[in-house]
Amino acid sequence: MSELRWNPLLGEWVDTATHRQERTFLPPADYCPLCPTRPGGFPTEVPEPDYDIVVFENRFPSLKSRPDDPAVEGTELSPVRPARGICEVVLYAPRHTSTLAQEPVEQIHKLVRVWIDRFEELGTLEYVDYVFIFENKGEEIGVTLHHPHGQIYAYPFIPPRIIQELQQSRSHWESKGTCLICDIARLEKDDGRRLVAENDSFSAYIPFFARWPYEVHVVSKRHLQAISELSVDEQRGLASIMKTLLVAYDGLFAKSFPYMMVMHQRPTDGASYPHYHFHIEFYPPLRASNRLKYLAGSETGAGMFINDTLAEEKAAELRTHVAPVTWGTAGHNQGTG
Ligand SMILES: [Zn+2]
Ligand SMILES: [Zn+2]
Ligand SMILES: [Zn+2]
Repeated sequence: MSELRWNPLLGEWVDTATHRQERTFLPPADYCPLCPTRPGGFPTEVPEPDYDIVVFENRFPSLKSRPDDPAVEGTELSPVRPARGICEVVLYAPRHTSTLAQEPVEQIHKLVRVWIDRFEELGTLEYVDYVFIFENKGEEIGVTLHHPHGQIYAYPFIPPRIIQELQQSRSHWESKGTCLICDIARLEKDDGRRLVAENDSFSAYIPFFARWPYEVHVVSKRHLQAISELSVDEQRGLASIMKTLLVAYDGLFAKSFPYMMVMHQRPTDGASYPHYHFHIEFYPPLRASNRLKYLAGSETGAGMFINDTLAEEKAAELRTHVAPVTWGTAGHNQGTG
């Protein structure tokens, strides 16, 4: 049903997960499997009449803690291995039509603490080398369920994109003696044209080298490697800057803005990565209100992105939708909970 096949051309694993074809595809709102179970209603994934934030294992996982043996034999050039790992779903809120952008900043702070908890717990599993926290939002990205949710994949290896960033960060650390991401963030702050928002703990900018028109990187001001190292003030800073960015995104075209959100942090394989730096990247697929950026021949076949827009102009557009975030009184007690 599911196995990892080695791609010797690229030196990376491909997950074959044919059972995922059966998964629920855009059900009507009354039959959302991620809503709370209504009294007398059909049983959803959450057998409660209400919930806050819920994490559970994906029913259609591409990685399993106890995977089946590979259904095929590997070849000399392409070994196979069991698709071992964990796929979790994180429900952000019980309300079906909500989005993370619409949730209060306190709820986003709660989510940050849930992410920390999952990163720490999954990261201690002996077979998990990387905990990948992400969200696909919007039909443009191919989401099959609208209910506000994100996902976590616990991989049995360090994924290729992370390996690339780790290598670039390490060689910069060894040649310059400084952190590459700290240096990029400093340049962006000094220049200022591509900054979208900042607070005491985080800054958000479209990097000079952005591949997507509205690609934003959210970077901690303190040099640290994982979300679990954030102080409570920094957790609140992350929640605030995410709220700011997500509201600005929705303001751009006056509609709920699709994106991929990916969290990049150190692996959990037991090695130390002092040269790496925790950050979150957003890749929105839109280049205009109703125009998608496709990953076409150059992007997919050669790995070279063509960005038809200027990061400086897109950041200026986003800045016009930046508004202050207000914490309710509840927010001030978040630190102890
Ligand atoms: Zn729902
Ligand atoms: Zn750094
Ligand atoms: Zn990154």
